[in-house]
Formats: sequence, structure tokens, C-alpha cells
Amino acid sequence: MSGPTLDRLGRPLRNLRLSVTDRCNLRCSYCMPEEEYVWLPRGDILTFEEAAYLVDVFADLGVDKVRLTGGEPLLRQGLERLVAQLGANARLRDLAITTNGILLAERAAALRTAGLHRVTVSLDTLRPDRFRTLTRRDALAQVLEGIAAVPRAGFTGLKLDTVVIRGVNDDELASLIEFGRSVPAEVRFIEYMDVGGATRWSMDQVVGRAEMLERLERRYGRIEPIVETTTAPADRFRLPDGTTFGIISSTTAPFCADCDRSRLTADGLWYLCLYATRGIDLRGPFRGGAGPEELKALITGGWRARTDRGAEDRLALGNRQPLVQIGGLKRDPHLEMHTRGG
Ligand code: SAM
Repeated sequence: MSGPTLDRLGRPLRNLRLSVTDRCNLRCSYCMPEEEYVWLPRGDILTFEEAAYLVDVFADLGVDKVRLTGGEPLLRQGLERLVAQLGANARLRDLAITTNGILLAERAAALRTAGLHRVTVSLDTLRPDRFRTLTRRDALAQVLEGIAAVPRAGFTGLKLDTVVIRGVNDDELASLIEFGRSVPAEVRFIEYMDVGGATRWSMDQVVGRAEMLERLERRYGRIEPIVETTTAPADRFRLPDGTTFGIISSTTAPFCADCDRSRLTADGLWYLCLYATRGIDLRGPFRGGAGPEELKALITGGWRARTDRGAEDRLALGNRQPLVQIGGLKRDPHLEMHTRGG
């Protein structure tokens, strides 16, 4: 490899989010609120061998961090097999998963044995009734069992991601931090984003980073920012007792300038921005016989032309509405958050 692959704004190709399914066992109001969707055709879903091959091509071009996502990645049968294939790739220095945790209690140990490095669990509330309303499934107990299984399986660095929505769960910031401390896990509060899938989004439901900090300072006293030089999306903070937490301020203070993330859908479309409306088809050329050099040319060509700053473009809009209405999502399921992974 000859130096990093840079886009038009000098951002390296480094971080790949690999969606392994568009199916999910929750129906969160901010992501996948309908019961039925236009699902990706089964025959289009990349096999583990195909996905691992493509990741290898990406690794040749500088990708060294891969996060498995979905839909709900643990719904993909035998995911441990893909983890083992990716885990054997010495160039990946970080191999993580983002999961809703429902199936984690029974899978954590096998994922660890297969070579997974890190786990992030999405957890928006600690209240069973609220969980049921928010996700339309009664599964908080399973999620909490899943979270408890992570340190037991030998993982460190567990993160809990919470989408904060005004009037829904914004009264649980402190409870979630305290729960995180008990696990142990670091909580990261995500501003509610107007991505595809968030058809009920409105700006007044967003609790911005400044307001979150203000509320937590009122409760805990002075909060200190942790100065770091990473391209991680979360800004991290420390409470007076040393407990740390993060805020991902994608809606009110986006971090496009540092964004080294791209997304490969379960059917092999490659998106260069969470807000992008078009992806680059890698499955077609790959299944059509393109070899590694052709795939590399396709990927480098796409990345070198990248100018996306989707979240900043959204911020600049005057009257912000959901990115895509339900009709648009039905016409192109690739616009859905559950198809391209969060
Ligand atoms: N099913 C897995 C999970 O729940 O973590 C992985 C896929 S999910 C789409 C990935 C992440 O995207 C989750 O943490 C979810 O909360 C987040 N997400 C989905 N819709 C969002 C929205 N409108 N705003 C902010 N985050 C969102």
C-alpha cells in the first residue's frame, strides 16, 4: 500500500461500517417505525466469503477499522463465522459490532472466541414500559442480560449508545450514566438525527449537546472535556468523580471535516456518507468477475472524488424536515438507516 487513500477534502479511507442484514427485531420510532418494509432481495445479500473478500480489498486501501452493523447484525445466522474471517485479517486493528443486545447474552462468548475486539450496545432507556413504547417490543430484560454478558465474556471497552429524544428519554441521562458505571461501560449520548428512517423527526425533539451538558452539570457539578486527537464521532467528558461519557453531536455540531467513515450495505452498495442518496455498487462488478485491481480502482475512484459533508449540509438548511419521507424510503430501501447501518 502506498500511503492513505484521501478524498477531495484530505480525509483518509479508514473506517468501514459493514451492514450484514437489513432485518431488525426492534421497531424503534426514530429508525424503523413501520412493521413491514421493502426488504433487500435475499440473493443480493453478500455471503460471508464475499463480504470478507471486499473487506480485504478495502484493507489494501487503508481501511483498518471495521464495525459490523445492520439492521440487527446478530440476526444474521452464524455471524461468528464472518467475525472469524475478519479477525484473521491482521490489518484490521479494530473489529467491533453495534447491536441492540437482544441476542447478545447467548452470543457474546462465541463472538469473543471468534476474534471480535469490541462491543457497542444501543440502549435508549432503562424503563421496561418506555422500552416497549419506543421499540414496540418487550425486550429490555434481554438487552440488559446481553449487556451483562459482555464483560463476562472478557470484552473490555463496552459502550452504550443512547439516542436522546426530547419528551421520550431525555430525563434518563443521569440514570444511564450511573447504569453504565455499574456495568462497567461508557455511555454515549447521540443527538437525534434526521436520517432516512427517522420519518417522525423534528428539530424540537433534538436535545443538543449544549443542553445535555448543562443538565448534567446541574446534576453533577463541573464537567471537564477530555482532549483527544481521534476521528471518533464522540466528544468525551469527565464528571467530577472521574466517570466518563461521550456525546455524538451529529445534528447540532457535525464533525464532517474529520469523517473517515463509509458504509457497505448487506447487498454490497457502498455509501460515502450517512446522508448520501446514492451508493456505489460493488456487488455487481464483483459478482460480474471484477478482480481485486478493478475493485480497488472503483473504490479509490469513488473515495478520491468524495466531497460529502452531509450532516453539515443538513445543518445549513433553514427549515429542517426529515431527510426522506416514507414514500421515498419505500421506493429505495437503501435510504433507510436500517439498510445502511447507523
Ligand atoms: N441494530 C443495531 C443497534 O441497534 O445498534 C445496529 C443498527 S442501528 C441502525 C445503529 C445505531 O443507529 C443505533 O445506535 C441507533 O440508535 C442509531 N440510530 C438509528 N436511527 C437514528 C437516528 N434517527 N438518530 C440517531 N441515531 C440513530
